[in-house]
Amino acid sequence: MRCHGENSQSLVVALASGRSLSVLLRRCRRRTLAIHVYRDATIEVRAPIACPIATVLDFVRRRRVWVKRQLERVATYPPARALQYTQGEHHRYLGEWMVLALRSGSPRQCRLIDGRLLLMLREPSDPMRVKRLLEQWYRDRASEVFAERLAYWSEHPVYGGLEPPSLRLRRMSRRWGSCSSQGVITLNTGLVEQRLELIDYVIVHELCHLRVFEHSARFYALLDKVLPDWRRRHRALEPI
Ligand SMILES: [Zn+2]
Repeated sequence: MRCHGENSQSLVVALASGRSLSVLLRRCRRRTLAIHVYRDATIEVRAPIACPIATVLDFVRRRRVWVKRQLERVATYPPARALQYTQGEHHRYLGEWMVLALRSGSPRQCRLIDGRLLLMLREPSDPMRVKRLLEQWYRDRASEVFAERLAYWSEHPVYGGLEPPSLRLRRMSRRWGSCSSQGVITLNTGLVEQRLELIDYVIVHELCHLRVFEHSARFYALLDKVLPDWRRRHRALEPI
């Protein structure tokens, strides 16, 4: 979920079958190799900065069956929707679908009432203005929800007294969250569309990085202690 100070290159991995896989290789400060298949079918390999290319190729080849299965899985996902920001459109918040109800008026505001997102603005027929108002609302909710969950989880006794870390919000296309070596946690604003238990999983994952920076056995042992069912949540989280 975290990879920074990175640089990337495209790589074609020839397989014994005569086929090949195009992968995106990202080198970053980490000790182990990891592979990820995104919903747009991009295959990404994260590798330590000094990892020899032969080791990377070998790693991809050994994971080819898993990669093939992931590619089949993402092919079944519906395509990312192009949002119109019009009356009656469905938008998601904390895992629930909300209907957009657009009203003409002022002051400009957005409120959530009984599963409806009521937006009041002077030009409700202008999708760009609706989008701006809605994004502001999502950002405010994300900031509120994430700060509350971060404060809650950082008090978990396993962490042994963590100061709630600094939180940043960003729209990210490739990850849900990250943790910098300076201890700043960045969360994807779009995460607020997911169920609370999945938001919690991402937050706990990043909090564990404040204690163990690498994805090592010690890191996963810590994660197991805080959230024993994190694997189920990890699987339930939609890929981005
Ligand atoms: Zn991580």
